Amino acid sequence: MEEVNLSYKEVVEKIKSKQINNILFLTGAGISTSSGIPDFRSPNGLYSKLQKYKLDYPEQIFEINYFTRNQMPFYEMDKEFFSYKPHVTSAHYFMAEANRRQQLLYVFSQNVDRLELEAGLPPEKLCQVHGNYKGARCQKCGFKHDINKYKELVQNQVIYKCENCKRGPVRPNVVFFGESLDKGFAKNTYKIAAADCVFIMGTSMQVAPFNLSVEKISKNVPVIVVNRDMIYLPYKKYIHLKNDIDNNVEKLMTDLGWDFPEIERNYPSNWFTDPQKQEKTKIEESENVKFSYSSGYYNDSICYQKDDEENKEESKQNQEKEELNNLEKKLEDLDV
Ligand SMILES: [Zn+2]
Repeated sequence: MEEVNLSYKEVVEKIKSKQINNILFLTGAGISTSSGIPDFRSPNGLYSKLQKYKLDYPEQIFEINYFTRNQMPFYEMDKEFFSYKPHVTSAHYFMAEANRRQQLLYVFSQNVDRLELEAGLPPEKLCQVHGNYKGARCQKCGFKHDINKYKELVQNQVIYKCENCKRGPVRPNVVFFGESLDKGFAKNTYKIAAADCVFIMGTSMQVAPFNLSVEKISKNVPVIVVNRDMIYLPYKKYIHLKNDIDNNVEKLMTDLGWDFPEIERNYPSNWFTDPQKQEKTKIEESENVKFSYSSGYYNDSICYQKDDEENKEESKQNQEKEELNNLEKKLEDLDV
């Protein structure tokens, strides 16, 4: 099948004239950046409060193996997380508006904040691939527990012990690294191939296996990436609306002739310290980038796909370790 090669203007025209009626969204944390939830890694972000736990790396807090051993850092992060009252952003509004205009097929979100629903998206149009805070359960026996009681104990920083097996800690129904995606993901992935236009918003698609979903996008549909930075798609050209997500979504809705309310923006406190981040909207067409997966990403458990810098750093550390081992071995040999 011939690969489609539409311009931004042509896609806008097709949505406007309702030739595109089955829009699918793949979204991530970037669509909630202006909602008032602090960025995880920013200086005042959620992670900054957890330094005392001396985690090996920030993402460790989301690993199920770590949580099983030590619940307190996660409970403390949740206490902080629950203290924010995040609000819907333009990106959430855009998806709900597409649904109101009967042009939305489905949304796959990596976010656990439920803002999609708050914006008016019906639950049957949404899959939260990394779970949500609607319920809680025992980590050991799976017994269901009241999320409000969980929140109450988190507030008091007391580990919630299972009322059934009396052993396991209670955890929210979010998906930790090392666990499988929400069941709704496998059940609904066929919709990706059925979409007549795909938006990838606020995600660099670095978390596996969710990032594999892009492989299902039909070759003959336009893909629009609304993300600060470019992303890698397998053998696929896309239209990139780069820099600020809210600005781009609002420009898009203006071009589509869709009315939208003025929506407050509450970026993380350090968000504008980087002058790059104040750039205006910019539209670019991507090169046809060949996507290569690192081995080991075709399993069921979610994991963070390290970028090149992190990989380089890790291989450097491994090399240093190996050199040290060799040196120790040599010294041992000398002793003999
Ligand atoms: Zn239990």
